[in-house]
Amino acid sequence: APAAPVMPRITVAHGDGIGPEIMDATLKILFTAGAQLEIEEVALGEHEYLAGNSSGIPQKSWDSIKENRVMLKAPITTPQGGGYKSLNVTLRKTLGLYANVRPVRSLHPYVQTKHPVMDMVIIRENEEDVYGSIEHQQTDEVVQCLKLITRPGCEKIVRYAFEYARQHNRKKVTCFTKDNIMKQTDGLFHEVFREVAQEYPELEAQHLIVDIGAALLADSPEKFDVVVLPNLYGDILSDVAAQISGSVGLAGSANIGQNYAIFEAIHGSAPDIAGQDVANPSGLLQAAIMMLAHLGQARVAQKVQNAWLKTLEDGTHTRDIYREGVSRQLVGTEDFALAVIS
Ligand code: ATP
Ligand code: MG
Repeated sequence: APAAPVMPRITVAHGDGIGPEIMDATLKILFTAGAQLEIEEVALGEHEYLAGNSSGIPQKSWDSIKENRVMLKAPITTPQGGGYKSLNVTLRKTLGLYANVRPVRSLHPYVQTKHPVMDMVIIRENEEDVYGSIEHQQTDEVVQCLKLITRPGCEKIVRYAFEYARQHNRKKVTCFTKDNIMKQTDGLFHEVFREVAQEYPELEAQHLIVDIGAALLADSPEKFDVVVLPNLYGDILSDVAAQISGSVGLAGSANIGQNYAIFEAIHGSAPDIAGQDVANPSGLLQAAIMMLAHLGQARVAQKVQNAWLKTLEDGTHTRDIYREGVSRQLVGTEDFALAVIS
């Protein structure tokens, strides 16, 4: 008899703030749809930090992530100003997750947006730039931050973007930098973009200075297809893109490396609305759908995606996207999940 298929095991972290609510909603949808997954829950985040774990990631959690190689992660609070280093940054750097893939599209006319035509994939460099958080105090009144850009890092992310575009039948790749000012760091990113683009003659390659690029992206998102950019610009512009598509709560992301992958919503832990059953679980659900595809469960992924689209088309909306005249029913996190399930 053929061996029974092995059930993939994934690591799951429920996170902080709205994390537990949107994770419960997402997992409920996945299992009802027939996703073949074994869940290993790990502790991670603020609570672990306060319990004395300086990185916020206990060894047991590392072991689980390294063994399972795939993680579905709810948002984790990163303290502003002082406090511990971003746990997201620690995870991405330690696991070599160099590409952060963030698809954003408009669901007009079902979700209100000023931009009816919008279907872009933001590919954010995920390990370098000022995100190393290498900062120094020089004098009482002068502080400094190190912006690190490497040629291998640029090559990996730019090539990833072009390969992604080719595989997904996209037509154009746009790169944003500020290399008129940062001639060395952003200059290297742009230079590598120019070099790699030559290997993909069928794809249109465009470079824009990030300030006008950002303005164009916010004003005319329909002009963009695949967008590749350094870490900080990618962080900022993916929030902009998701928000103008309807809500920052709509977009999911895949953090991809050679050996590991972490799937998460693009937004943070939203402490302002935590515990109120009002958060939109769509971002984490979109991430989970990418995870199912990554695990070879494309059929279940498609089924969940269709159910999610149908729910939004029916006008069953959480507060962040609820608008008079477009939406039909205001629901909380849990009821949104139940609507997707039904
Ligand atoms: P981080 O630094 O972790 O990215 P952030 O400062 O960017 O965090 P978020 O936690 O993403 O902040 O929240 C930004 C705003 O968007 C808040 O007002 C929050 O309530 C709202 N928001 C974020 N996620 C959702 C969601 N899933 N549903 C509804 N509103 C959300
Ligand atoms: Mg943010």
